[in-house]
Amino acid sequence: MYALPQIAKLLKLSLHDIPDVMIDTLLTDSRKLVHPDSSLFFALSGSRRDGHAFIPELYKKGVRYFVVSEPFSKKNFPKAVFLKVSNVLEALQTIAAYHRQQFQWEVIGVTGSNGKTIVKEWLYQLLQHHYNIVRSPKSYNSQIGVPLSVWQMEPHNNLAIFEAGISCRGEMERLYRIIRPTIGVLTNIGAAHSEGFESNAEKLEEKLELFKTAKIIIANADDRLIRDTIVKKQLPAFFWGKHRDSQLRIASIKNDKSDTTIRLRYEKQRFEITIPFTDNASIENALTACAVLLCLKIDIADIQSGMRHLQPVNMRLEFKKGINNCIIINDSYSADTDSLSIALDFLQQQSRGFNKTAILSDFLQTGKNVEEVYCTILSQIEKHKIKRLIGIGPQMQTWLPRLIGEKKSSLTDFSTYASTKEFLRHIHTLHFKDEAILVKGARIFEFEEIVAQLEQKLHQTILEINLNAIAHNFRIYQEILKPTTKMMVMVKAFAYGSGGTEIASLLQYHKADYLGVAYADEGVELRKAGITLPIMVLNPEESAFDSITEYNLEPDIFSFTMLEAFERHVQKIGVKNYPIHIEVETGMNRLGFDTADVPLLAQRLKNNPYLHIQSVFSHLAASEDKVEDAFTLQQYEKLMTASETIKEWVGYSFLRHIANSSAIARFPKLQLDMVRLGIGLYGIGDKRIRKKLQPALTLRSTIAQVKQLKKGDTVSYNRRGVIKKDTVIATVRIGYADGYYRRLGNGVGYMLVKNKKAPVVGTVCMDMVMIDITHIKGVKEGDDVIVFGNGLPLEELAERMDTIPYEIMTGISQRVKRVYWSE
Ligand SMILES: *Cc1c(COP(=O)(O)O)cnc(C)c1O
Repeated sequence: MYALPQIAKLLKLSLHDIPDVMIDTLLTDSRKLVHPDSSLFFALSGSRRDGHAFIPELYKKGVRYFVVSEPFSKKNFPKAVFLKVSNVLEALQTIAAYHRQQFQWEVIGVTGSNGKTIVKEWLYQLLQHHYNIVRSPKSYNSQIGVPLSVWQMEPHNNLAIFEAGISCRGEMERLYRIIRPTIGVLTNIGAAHSEGFESNAEKLEEKLELFKTAKIIIANADDRLIRDTIVKKQLPAFFWGKHRDSQLRIASIKNDKSDTTIRLRYEKQRFEITIPFTDNASIENALTACAVLLCLKIDIADIQSGMRHLQPVNMRLEFKKGINNCIIINDSYSADTDSLSIALDFLQQQSRGFNKTAILSDFLQTGKNVEEVYCTILSQIEKHKIKRLIGIGPQMQTWLPRLIGEKKSSLTDFSTYASTKEFLRHIHTLHFKDEAILVKGARIFEFEEIVAQLEQKLHQTILEINLNAIAHNFRIYQEILKPTTKMMVMVKAFAYGSGGTEIASLLQYHKADYLGVAYADEGVELRKAGITLPIMVLNPEESAFDSITEYNLEPDIFSFTMLEAFERHVQKIGVKNYPIHIEVETGMNRLGFDTADVPLLAQRLKNNPYLHIQSVFSHLAASEDKVEDAFTLQQYEKLMTASETIKEWVGYSFLRHIANSSAIARFPKLQLDMVRLGIGLYGIGDKRIRKKLQPALTLRSTIAQVKQLKKGDTVSYNRRGVIKKDTVIATVRIGYADGYYRRLGNGVGYMLVKNKKAPVVGTVCMDMVMIDITHIKGVKEGDDVIVFGNGLPLEELAERMDTIPYEIMTGISQRVKRVYWSE
């Protein structure tokens, strides 16, 4: 916490009349606002978003203190204080760097191409009983994330672990000034984030910048480039590896089914560690962590026991449909105050106006004052307007009633239980209904059981939707747009099968400009879920006009009949200037006004008091097809001519749009004032952009039974699958009623079991399908099967059955459970 005048002084501003208020939050993202009174907003400008644009909205919500690089007039913001600097990001970094200098204890800086977050989290797991640690939340490792991480350092801490990530030259110097690590940890140098560098050597040089004043640098001696560079530069190294110069030397590594035992030598002592992982990345990360612990002089016995109990770093927040229309956010892996605020933010984002409930276990945070921990929890719960709180565990039982009583908390609906078992005995009396519920607890409380009870029971085929990938893809498309081009996202057909309200909430959070749906009902659903973005309805029917105007939806008007009917409706309900969209037919021959009718249409809309044209648009017939590029451009020209005519008649301007996902990537010229993104959001796109996108969907199922068949046996209806040699088949819980098409039967389709291909045998049944797993060892009933997703792209499946990904995505039936997750 700093006083505002002190911050101004740090930024070398000589302003008078700065109020003496305390600032505890450096706010860089307007969506994350929780306490306006003590937040200082930094108006950062990215390639697309200019933070200055959010100032009016934040001011309205009570924020008063702003760091800006553009002049602002106090006239519109009488109570605001503007700290004007030449570079807002530098200002943020300067404050963080100063804050860092106030602490003398050890600061561990972790960098490298892969494994940064895991090493950071494992160090936290291993050291939490020895130190009071502050660490980067999630993977806050960027030019903005690092200052925000460092800002969390407080006097009661005595060790910091911060991540640093860079993507081009020159960035590490800035991060160095903010973190100034005393202990450097280099995980590895690999291919990740290579675009901004000429070679690995150059990347390594840049990374080592972080450690220029570190007392010791921990690194892998078996990577020649790393070893040679560190030795040549005469940096103080602590190497681990098989190489003979390693201080921590590997004698042997032995894998068994689920563990790895590593025999080690360190200063003449021999010892071994066992970790509950077998993959190479985990072994490397564990050795890196082991070296750090030795540098910190942790007892070998403690290291051994810590290593045995390492837990996977699961930063997923799962989002599921619950019983009685509830929404469940599953975070049953961790309980600490940092991750609580992340989880509460996510709850906020997905709560759709429902009442919010939090079920929390004891927070077993060692090294912190217990009372303080529970005060923090309670204040976060209040700030996020949680309606009911359920605490589970002896500490919750002690502290919640006491603190709520003492503080006269606004929270009135709370209850506590001594244990998870005790809570489960009462769960049916608590009547969860229409609530957004966060379930968050330390592992030992086994909150999985609570999640299982609250979850809607559907069958075991699930469509997983990675919300991070969707947000990422949204950003990638935004980046290729001109800064002034708006983004409409088409969320018709349940957002291409992914769940209309869930995807729309995410897009609203990430500030899409417009949404598009096919039918009015879909728009009504979104409004009921709390979506306030403007929504265009492609196919309004007369019977839906009432809901269109009642829910403030904007119809696509594509014929004179519809124009007249809608105008009459608007007149009848007594509204003026109702927003409409005009679709022009340019070659798709689906919907739209013929270009020959455009002048007549324009005259009808001139001086029309009831209707206001929000946009004029058209739809491309073959934007992905190179052979048809001339036709595509011709469609564009027709739209331009039509919109020119309309504009001349009506005398005002409106948005013009024509580009869908593939046109955005292929024709920059077609971006106009707005684009309409669809399938690209899910990571499916033109090859120019495909590599940058992340596939967002995984369809998975499970094996119901495994059978051994002999030559001559047959499989499925009409005995279509004939077995030619001894074969093992597995029956999978998915069929054509789930959207696994019959066309994929008889060897056309395949699934992945243990990452290996298993072809479909025989015809696809309504609820099940059989696959050949003869060549895959150790498959059991209940095992996971990937129908599409990582390793089996949706595009490939579509190609095999001679269709397009759109058909498969929108054909996944409603009985398939959708599970959302976010990191
Ligand atoms: C569905 C749709 C889109 C989006 O198309 P994608 O190919 O999925 O990007 C755009 N515009 C209209 C009118 C649509 O119906």
